This record gives sequence, C-alpha cells and structure tokens, in this order.
Amino acid sequence: MSTNKTYDYILAGGGLSGQMMALELQKVIREDERVLMIDKSDKTENDRTWSYWSTDRNLTDVLARKVWNQIKVSGKDFSKEMSIDPYHYATIRGIDFYNFTKKELENDKRFDCITAVVEEIDETNGVVKTTDGKSYQGNLIFKSYFESDKLEIPKEDYSVLYQQFKGWFVKTEEPVFDPDTVTFMDFSTLEDTHETRFFYILPFSETEALVEYTAFTANRMEEQVYDDHLNWYFKEKLKVSNFEIEEKEFDFIPMTDYPFPQKINGRVITIGTTAAFIKGSTGYCFSRTQEKIKGMVRALSTKGKIEESDIVSPFHFRLFDSAMLEVTGKGIVPGERFFISLFKKMAPEFLFRFLDEKASMREIIRTMFAVPGKGKLVIATIQKLMIGNKI
Ligand SMILES: Cc1cc2nc3c(=O)[nH]c(=O)nc-3n(C[C@H](O)[C@H](O)[C@H](O)COP(=O)(O)OP(=O)(O)OC[C@H]3O[C@@H](n4cnc5c(N)ncnc54)[C@H](O)[C@@H]3O)c2cc1C
Repeated sequence: MSTNKTYDYILAGGGLSGQMMALELQKVIREDERVLMIDKSDKTENDRTWSYWSTDRNLTDVLARKVWNQIKVSGKDFSKEMSIDPYHYATIRGIDFYNFTKKELENDKRFDCITAVVEEIDETNGVVKTTDGKSYQGNLIFKSYFESDKLEIPKEDYSVLYQQFKGWFVKTEEPVFDPDTVTFMDFSTLEDTHETRFFYILPFSETEALVEYTAFTANRMEEQVYDDHLNWYFKEKLKVSNFEIEEKEFDFIPMTDYPFPQKINGRVITIGTTAAFIKGSTGYCFSRTQEKIKGMVRALSTKGKIEESDIVSPFHFRLFDSAMLEVTGKGIVPGERFFISLFKKMAPEFLFRFLDEKASMREIIRTMFAVPGKGKLVIATIQKLMIGNKI
C-alpha cells in the first residue's frame, strides 16, 4: 500500500479535542505546513451539547447558545441561588462548534479535512491507515478517538463509574423556568439512594429548557428509569403537565481515576477522553480540553515539543480527585450530603477554581475539612496513596 500524502500534523479524530487542536494549530503553523483532520463522521449532526464554567469568554462569545451568571443548588432541606462571578456558565451545541470549525478551516489551504475511519496508526513511521484503503504519513499525530474496547482497567485499584444522563429539551405552554439561573444540582428524589443522583436544568427561556436526570453510577441503568424520574420531576416538582419534548439526550461519560496510557513522546500524542482530559470526579471536560490544548500548542511553538507537565495534571490534584470520585461515586458519603455541604460552606467561585485545579494546597485542605465524612475522604486519599499506583 503506498502512502497517499505527507502532513506535518495529522488529527486522528476530529471531535471536540481534535477540532480544538486544529483551531489552535491554525494560529501558529507556518504557511508551508500542512494539517490533515480525519473523522469517521462528517459532523453534520448535533451529537451533544457541552456546558462548562469559565472566566475566559473567547469561544463563549461566539458560539454559546446561552450564558448564565447564577446557579441554584437544592437538597431536601436546602436551596440556594448563588452568583458565580467572576465565572460564567455557558452551553454550546456540538453542531454550532463543528460548523464554526468547518468555516474557519475551509478556506485555509494548510488544512485538509476528510471523512474516513482510521483503522491503524503505525507509531514508528507515522503512517495512518483508513478503512477505505488509503494511508497518510504524519510527522506528528494527535489521536483523539477512544478505543474503549481495547481498555482493560484493573477495577481493584481504580474507581470506574459512569455519569449517565437523560435529558429532555422541552417547550412548555406556561412560563416555568427562571431563565437567569441554572439548576446545577437538585437532589429532589423519587427514590432514596446513596449514589450521587440529581436533576439539572439549563433554562433557555421561561418556556424552554434542557431538563436532565444524572446519576454517578457503577451500573448503567435502563433508559426507562431515567424517563420515570423525569416524568416524576415534571409532575411533582415543576408542576407542569403541558410540555413538548423537542429533543432527547441519553448517554454517559466515563468517570475514572485510571491513568489512560497517555502518549506524549514519539510521533503519536493522545488528546481528549483517551488522554484523561475528562475530570474523573465531575465528568466535565470542555474547559480542560481547551486549556490543555492551548498549553500543548504553546509548548510546541515555543519549545518545539510537548512534555508531560504540559498535559498531565499535578499529582496532588489527581490524588484528591481520585479520593473524591471514590467517596461520591461509590456513595460512601451520600452524594446529596457531600455536595450540599460543599455548596453551603464554599462559594461557587472557590469550588470552580478548586475543580479547575487552580486552588492552593491550603485551599485543598480547607475543602477536605468542609466536606461531611471527611474521615472517609482522608481514608480514601491514603488508600489511593498506599496502592502506590500512578493515578
Ligand atoms: C452526550 C455527551 C454530553 C457531554 N456533555 C458535556 C458537558 O456538558 N460538559 C463537558 O465538559 N463535557 C461533556 N461531555 C464529555 C466530553 O466533553 C465530550 O465527550 C467530548 O466530546 C470529548 O472530546 P473528545 O475529543 O475526547 O471526543 P469526541 O468529541 O467524541 O471526538 C472523538 C472523535 O473521534 C471520531 N472517531 C471515533 N473513532 C474513529 C475512527 N476510528 N476514525 C476516525 N474518527 C473516529 C468520532 O467521530 C469523534 O468525532 C459530554 C459527553 C457526551 C457523550
């Protein structure tokens, strides 16, 4: 098989992280450099909606469907609306991001974007083979497609959970939603559980919203379970019966402290989910992806290479995240108790900074002492340390 064409960079997978990498490379590469982006999908469908908090407004300004400055957290005996200043919370539809990237790249002769399925990447010579019998050679390859079937996680050492969710994009006849406030976590329950399960509302207007039921769970549940909870929430909590479901979202995000075999040295570098960009304890990934990719491209253009420190989170953050995932994910401390207590004691600004891995060691310790069942969290932290595995 002959190699079709040679590129300086090949993006194997062009979803969130692949496209973010393309947009960042576009800012720094020379006129004579060439980039190929390969994705198995032509990205013409809205396959997901990303929400995230950030202080940085660049993509949000252009693409966000809506931006909020206030969140609400509720439990059985607690409800609080909070400003998240200096952060904002935003939501971007996948399709709007894909169309934006397409437009940015279509008249740039340095970029080729093709729809094809990558079959194999030869790490030694940088050859990427696709299932249509073609092959391309890349000097540096960023691989972002996730081969979950090839992954064998030793479950005795690592926490492996799913953030499974079902969302209804609804339109109501009467005004129901507060368009200025995101319901970040509402622990109202149809049934009692130790797991972290909550309702989440992104209100686009008084009559339009995404209402979602989310569970951090070790065992994925049937879709019907989610529908039952959503039906209950509309009837008993929102007290609304006249609404239309315009779109549905039922999916899951892996939550784990397993250190995906990240590739940094050599011709293939992993990015995105397959490089552990998803934060284990929260399942959020959008802002982390943007930040990590900016850091990688900065490193490439200043040092000519990417090093571990440009991509991997510092050890103490990984350790604490791992302990948090163990405790909340497995219901060792009931999810409602854990999160409500955090929001009672800490300002959202601080919590977001902490989850963004920008808090100081003093602030991390303060957080550990703010949560209920801190003893269990300390034990989980020590256990993770004792296993001696690389988290
Ligand atoms: C429904 C859903 C909602 C989410 N919502 C949020 C959210 O609100 N906030 C947040 O922070 N995170 C969210 N996430 C988590 C995370 O942000 C996304 O999963 C994100 O898209 C991950 O980026 P990625 O580049 O790793 O993977 P993807 O965006 O999935 O990109 C991988 C790409 O690889 C392509 N591909 C796969 N196999 C091949 C192959 N063999 N050859 C070529 N191409 C291939 C796929 O078509 C895909 O485009 C969500 C995830 C899902 C599934």
